Amino acid sequence: MRVRSLSLSICLLAVAAHLLACTAATTAKDEAPAPVPDIEARRAQFAQFGLTASLEHLSGGDRAALEHLVRAADWMDVIFKRQAWAGHEDFEKRVATLKGPGAQAAKDYYRIMYGPWDRLLSHEPFLGDLEHPEGAGYYPEDMTKEEFDAWIAAHPEDEESFKGLFTMIVRSEGGLEAVSYHEFFKNELSAARDELLGAAELADTPSLKTYLRSRAEAFFSDDYYQSDMDWMDLDGNLEIVIGPYETYEDGLFGYKAAFEAFLCVVDPDDSAALAKYKGELPWLELQLPIPDEHKNLDRGSESPISVTDEIYTAGDTRSGIQTIAFNLPNDERVREAKGSKKVLLKNIMRAKYENILVPIARHALPEADVARASWDAYFNFVLFHELCHGLGPGRITVDGRETEVRLELRDLYSSMEEAKADVMGIWALYQLADKGIMDEKIVDSLAWTVVPGLLRSARFGVTEAHGLGVVCQFSYLIEKGAIEVTADQRLRPVLSKWRGAVTDLTHDLCMLEATGDYEATQKFVEKYGPVPPAMQSILESLGDIPVDIDPVYPTKGS
Ligand code: ZN
Repeated sequence: MRVRSLSLSICLLAVAAHLLACTAATTAKDEAPAPVPDIEARRAQFAQFGLTASLEHLSGGDRAALEHLVRAADWMDVIFKRQAWAGHEDFEKRVATLKGPGAQAAKDYYRIMYGPWDRLLSHEPFLGDLEHPEGAGYYPEDMTKEEFDAWIAAHPEDEESFKGLFTMIVRSEGGLEAVSYHEFFKNELSAARDELLGAAELADTPSLKTYLRSRAEAFFSDDYYQSDMDWMDLDGNLEIVIGPYETYEDGLFGYKAAFEAFLCVVDPDDSAALAKYKGELPWLELQLPIPDEHKNLDRGSESPISVTDEIYTAGDTRSGIQTIAFNLPNDERVREAKGSKKVLLKNIMRAKYENILVPIARHALPEADVARASWDAYFNFVLFHELCHGLGPGRITVDGRETEVRLELRDLYSSMEEAKADVMGIWALYQLADKGIMDEKIVDSLAWTVVPGLLRSARFGVTEAHGLGVVCQFSYLIEKGAIEVTADQRLRPVLSKWRGAVTDLTHDLCMLEATGDYEATQKFVEKYGPVPPAMQSILESLGDIPVDIDPVYPTKGS
């Protein structure tokens, strides 16, 4: 799971431009497609930002391994582009030929979006007029949900491979076929494997060598279990994630995992300071505002927290909005055995806090309250979002059947899980303040930090898992009177109702997950998913604040 940071924009200008784009004529196959008229404004939503990270505390061998790791990460990029869209390779060549006004902006935006569709605008096209395939590149573009379901009904023996995280679905003679990632991406994964083995040779840290070797092997088997276990044991100053993880890109079913890579350097002082919270997780699970029978007391207690600065990323995480924190692995078997690891990307978080969240607070909060938002509250809000992915229902029993929340809530799972992690994180900070573990100053500024924070996330658009989850929280808190709209259209947290509403929402989301009730979840999303008018008008007023950053890494040109 990950938290991306966001900000803005469902701006009217872009919507108007989209309408224009939809009327554009289809271009011939070899010609460059036409960008939307406001392409420059769209590109400007992503402010170029040079990231810095200190490599001083890395050993010589670990530092030398980085070169191989950057190349391995670049292979994740190649794979993810194909996962995002089967037509990518041909289309990218056409994009490269663009000339004239807006050409550079269009090329940049294509690079940021990993395709010709705007990830901030429900995958509407910004280059040409092709429709975005809901199942991205994972399924045949003309395959419908009904066809997929009918195939499984007729071939129940195919269900496991078809719904698997690590298969592509292709047309074959007489129907559909699942092809494992290690076959489908054989060339790319072999090259990535060689780079990982090269890095393992140079690295000094034994746990890093072990992880790189087992992950290299997993690229050939699609069995990521052992390497996920090894990843949990990493104990050096390099924090490396590479492989298939999140399922957000699969908008059809949410079954398929997207390849990505994070190369980060650990900040040992921050990590030690935060590690004290890890001991509180079992206590927090016991305090959850749900019946005891739904509490998940069997999860591993090992929940390392890592505060890092990002050196390089590629693939899924690099597309669109940049991730500020993640919680991996997603494999429930590993999570129950070892818990999960939270990695915060502090240099990205701080850049977004200063450049996006503070300006949003100036627009959205009553003027006298703007100064109540704080970096410490924001940092802890993100930290506890990540911690709370490891709390609450995971593996559940539905009608006597053992299953996982993810499998039961399907396409709605990501949004609900993100919303749960947000609101449970807020709830947990109050719990820990009551217990004397969390600084009161931090929870005092929490509501004023969370409100601009929610607005920031809603700017991603509701089709992004976190964006929809955020709008649901916002609607719910307004309905409960925990956020009020002032006469001058600003949003003020109502403290007398805030904490109660946060607890109620934590309860409601946990129960949807605990029961694995898809229909009830659908009703929840129908009720709370539409953007409330108060939120819409403020979102529209944030147009001049960047939506996100377009990172420039020191390890590579961009
Ligand atoms: Zn998350």
